[in-house]
Amino acid sequence: MIIAERKPMPEIMEMISGIKKLLILGCRGCVAVCSAGGDKEVNIMVEAITLGKKLKGETIEIDQDVLVRQCDPEYLEPLKEKVKEYDAILSMACGVGVNFLAEQYPDTLVLPALNTTFYGANLSSGEWKEMCAGCGACVLHLTGGLCPVARCAKHLSNGPCGGSVNGRCEVDPNTPCVWQLIYDRLKRLNLSENMRKIMPIRDWTPSGEGGPRRRVREDLLP
Ligand code: SF4
Ligand code: SF4
Repeated sequence: MIIAERKPMPEIMEMISGIKKLLILGCRGCVAVCSAGGDKEVNIMVEAITLGKKLKGETIEIDQDVLVRQCDPEYLEPLKEKVKEYDAILSMACGVGVNFLAEQYPDTLVLPALNTTFYGANLSSGEWKEMCAGCGACVLHLTGGLCPVARCAKHLSNGPCGGSVNGRCEVDPNTPCVWQLIYDRLKRLNLSENMRKIMPIRDWTPSGEGGPRRRVREDLLP
């Protein structure tokens, strides 16, 4: 899922200075699962902004709503007329949601309440770990299911950099060297020979280096 975290409140308060009527819009997708932008967090945001404005002696009118997903036109369409009543929408979705709202509601200011950070897995309550960088050319079949793009600080494709010490990454000793993990896992799976397969120089175009990516599946088009 996409992991995001709330921006610092002073940054949010600065963003909404001058806004008189605000719609705070949450999302029940990934950001709800990672406790950044779901129903509970929207309630907290309403309270925090109300209190912040009160302390400054300012007034603001706030409405709130939470959509099933902010990245799907099906859920945005019903709000199309209503959003025109607001000076701004404070979106508590990931950056995808904010972009999509901005495109779908061209006359309404859309502000991000979250910082979108990475694609990750839930390790435990309150702990997430990056696992994929959305590179568009997956090599996990060669690396025992462990990603060298997202999990190696240098994004190396053909083994470790030589700086790892006792299985830890030289860039951050608190992080295991993913190439050590890949080696150990391939060995365990009797696939050690994969370490000898040279991956060609990576073409970063599928990862978005050539511009924003778009995918069309003809079989699903209306
Ligand atoms: S190789 Fe690319 S697609 Fe596969 S997990 Fe890593 S970043 Fe994601
Ligand atoms: S020590 Fe391992 S994880 Fe860290 S940069 Fe080098 S190869 Fe990548």
